[in-house]
Amino acid sequence: MRKNKYFSLPSSQFDFVANEKKLLDWWYKKEVVKKYLNKNKNAKKNFSFIDGPITANNPMGVHHAWGRTLKDLYQRYKNMQGFCQRFQNGFDCQGLWVEVEVEKEKGFKNKKDIENYGIDKFVQDCKERVFKYAAVQTQQSIRLGYFMDWENSYYTLSDENNYMIWHFLKVCHQEGNIYKGTDSVPWCPRCGTAVTQHEILDGGYHQRTHEAVYMRFPLIKDGKLQQDEYLLVWTTTPWTIPADTLVAVHPKLRYAQVEYQGKKYWLAHNLINKIFNQPLAPLKVITGRQLIREEKITHYKAAFDNLPIIKQIAKSPHFHQVVEAKDLVTEEEGTGLVHIVPGAGTEDHHLVKNQLRWPEVIFPVVDEDGSYLEGYGFLTGKNAKDHPEFVINYLKEKENGRYLFKLENYTHSYPLCWRCGTELIWRLVSEWYIAMDNPRKSDGKTLRQRMMAVAKKINWLPEFGLKRELDWLKNMTDWLISKKRYWGLALPIWQCDCGWFEVIGSKEELKQKAVEGWSEFAGHSPHRPWIDKIKIRCPKCGKLIERVKDVGTPWLDAGIVPFSTLVDPKTKKVSYLTDKKYWRQWYPADFITECFPGQFRNWFYSLIAMATALEDKEPFKTVLGHALVKDEKGEEMHKSKGNAIWFDEAAEKMGVDTLRWLYCRQDPEFNLNLGYKVANEVRRQYLLVLWNAYCFFLTYASLNNWQPIDQKLNLRNLVVLDQWILSRLESTKKLVSEKLDDYQHHLAISKIEKFLEDLSLWYIRRSRERLNPQNQNKKDQENCFQTLYYLLEQLALILAPFIPFLSEEIWQNLRYHQKNYDPNDSVHLQNWPKAEEKFINLRLEKTMAQIREIISQSHSQRQTAGIKVRQPLPQLTIRNLGFRIEKELIKLIKDELNLKKVKIIPGKGSLQVQLETKLTPKLIAEGKARELIRKVQVLRKQAGLSLQDKIKIKAPSWPKEFEKEILTKTGGLSIKKANQLTIVKI
Ligand SMILES: [Zn+2]
Ligand SMILES: [Zn+2]
Repeated sequence: MRKNKYFSLPSSQFDFVANEKKLLDWWYKKEVVKKYLNKNKNAKKNFSFIDGPITANNPMGVHHAWGRTLKDLYQRYKNMQGFCQRFQNGFDCQGLWVEVEVEKEKGFKNKKDIENYGIDKFVQDCKERVFKYAAVQTQQSIRLGYFMDWENSYYTLSDENNYMIWHFLKVCHQEGNIYKGTDSVPWCPRCGTAVTQHEILDGGYHQRTHEAVYMRFPLIKDGKLQQDEYLLVWTTTPWTIPADTLVAVHPKLRYAQVEYQGKKYWLAHNLINKIFNQPLAPLKVITGRQLIREEKITHYKAAFDNLPIIKQIAKSPHFHQVVEAKDLVTEEEGTGLVHIVPGAGTEDHHLVKNQLRWPEVIFPVVDEDGSYLEGYGFLTGKNAKDHPEFVINYLKEKENGRYLFKLENYTHSYPLCWRCGTELIWRLVSEWYIAMDNPRKSDGKTLRQRMMAVAKKINWLPEFGLKRELDWLKNMTDWLISKKRYWGLALPIWQCDCGWFEVIGSKEELKQKAVEGWSEFAGHSPHRPWIDKIKIRCPKCGKLIERVKDVGTPWLDAGIVPFSTLVDPKTKKVSYLTDKKYWRQWYPADFITECFPGQFRNWFYSLIAMATALEDKEPFKTVLGHALVKDEKGEEMHKSKGNAIWFDEAAEKMGVDTLRWLYCRQDPEFNLNLGYKVANEVRRQYLLVLWNAYCFFLTYASLNNWQPIDQKLNLRNLVVLDQWILSRLESTKKLVSEKLDDYQHHLAISKIEKFLEDLSLWYIRRSRERLNPQNQNKKDQENCFQTLYYLLEQLALILAPFIPFLSEEIWQNLRYHQKNYDPNDSVHLQNWPKAEEKFINLRLEKTMAQIREIISQSHSQRQTAGIKVRQPLPQLTIRNLGFRIEKELIKLIKDELNLKKVKIIPGKGSLQVQLETKLTPKLIAEGKARELIRKVQVLRKQAGLSLQDKIKIKAPSWPKEFEKEILTKTGGLSIKKANQLTIVKI
């Protein structure tokens, strides 16, 4: 039985996908995965990998599979090298992305629908969705060949994770870095939540056309309304016009007064032509500063001044004032006079709050859904974004359009909600922040400075990662951590009307301080709505107070995992909060890898922020970022475009080894263009070449009844060709290790690709005859078999981390006939092979490369002369060969090029190769004989004959002097004349 398996010939139509499924079954049935996870359990050296959690919200995509392939690759490599490791996968569970999907499932339109349904039920549904997709993603990852401790995955919804974030927030609070701030922030009116700076960049800006409005504001000079002198002001957000507060000019820009249809307008001098579509001679030209100080243009009137809220605000002398703001004003667009609404714009708000310090003119515009608030008269309750016509129609009618100069369609890039695609608005809200620029008491350093110092200690791959991270850290605002939502970390902040607030750092602390609601909460996870039952007492005023209703940003959930997931297997406790001994063994992580474009401001950022606040130490030593997966043409994959490839489909159609090869060979710095065409190409070029080399070996091993013997290869007995391929193998092994040590897997696999090419296009090509059963040099044949066997076995080992399936298939089958064969053993339980330095002969590798170059030049000369390879040629002359050449190599050249003689003329200068193509009658006869031999071989193959079968040949003609050779080479017993070439099996 054993014999049958080992030399059973694999079908030429090998089914890669079916084989992958067979091996998956086998790995789990034979507990190979379990043995793999425990392989180095007691090793002294460890390699700490922390998994960036995958959002368990949908099936896994081909873009996830890239990162997961790299994670698996490096963990497998380190496992073969004997490092003790944790193999913990993570699922990201909380946050708006899950909520939005559950809302879609239930057909909910807004937050009211959720509250009517019940927050408890909604949160439960979110949890269930997460568990459902975590299970789906686990199965998909297993299909990818990803070996992880699947039963011990971490979930960011766990109590451990949530309470560890509480601990972090408490530490931040103790340093005075938690505060509630009012700001005018980007807001999604559908999701009813603020959208952070990080998320805006994720959601992206999209081309949108809006109605832009040119308003004219009559001037008020010395308290008097001017009848025919106006400021010309422009906006692309008509919904903010009712709340117009100030107009800003640039102090140094030149402004002009022009007369047009009986009215005088002020605007930027350079924009006159653009706005009036004609050159108008200015009446006056002055700078913005002169406009305010010398021309005394300081106040104006606007169209909505009768609204109750405006009447209230207008009591301030600063209302409708003209101000200088050089950062907000340009001549690129508009009129050079900027409409400022501190209640609906981040920069506007900062100008009024921080620079002008006029808090009395900051007032809100819209509510959570984007509807106008109380005080906006006829607009109150109307959705501001959906109905710009209320504002525009009012402007058209009011005093016969006095305040409206003109309307025009304006296309610009506009931010959308990263989650639901709704156009964002800006809204005045109170949110919770972590301060970045608060100097620490002990050394005066701010969190921002400390984070930058930590980021610099990390090895960023690709290198530009550090610069990107530092750019982000330099420019980012305070970290907005709250969301007015339901499914997420319950921010542990209890707040009192008197202004005092408390940040709770643990479940124990909460229990101790709870005055009401503990019994209702007990037994539940620390989520809404159960956590909201608990009241504590305000130590300042004695009132019973509740938790703020906000949940936390999910990047807190993912950033805390280097602290929350290191659970000591002995005590089963989170090590960081107990004795820290186990935690210290695994922190910082040696390695993390994720898709980089978004993570500089997301996961990498939150990891660094949390590790800095807690420990002032880097959370990971090396980060490897990879780019995005696009379709074959380099375009974004989209369900709606029909160019998306689903992971399951890719696994079924390409096979995951092919998919993994594609991921591994891609330079992670650049996007991967993935499709079936490129997958087929990679399978053909590499996987099939490997498979064919292996089949070639099996075929001839079977024909010759060859058995592996337990004997090391002896270099002295080997021919140069064997020495060369062994050198190539060992130097490839060495380079692959070096590249993997540097996390340059794409360079590592390119070395293997090069080796496969050498193996199939040269070594095997030149070794066919040696393995022919008719070869009488049995010693040479044995060496060739042994060399090939060793090559394939070593290849299987170094390919195991890259393509776990095919490498296993080959390795298993090769081992089958060894004395110590263990049917439960696996390539994935082996040690990483060390390069055999004594086999490496770089001089020989270089020589062979040059010989192959000579051969390639000669082949093309033959082609130019139109002479087939089977026609022997008299001579090749090589001039100026820069090195000595062994006899064996000359023979190699002669055999490959079908030559009678190779003449080498030494000398200096550039290498010259000249093929002699003049034919003698004898050479022509020999060529005919070779041609006939080839045709007979084809007929033998068509008849399905084996190498041992003997035949009788009939042929129209043949060169008599080569008759004996023809018969020997074709297994023929006789040859007779006939009109047509035929063979008959005897
Ligand atoms: Zn949204
Ligand atoms: Zn109080």
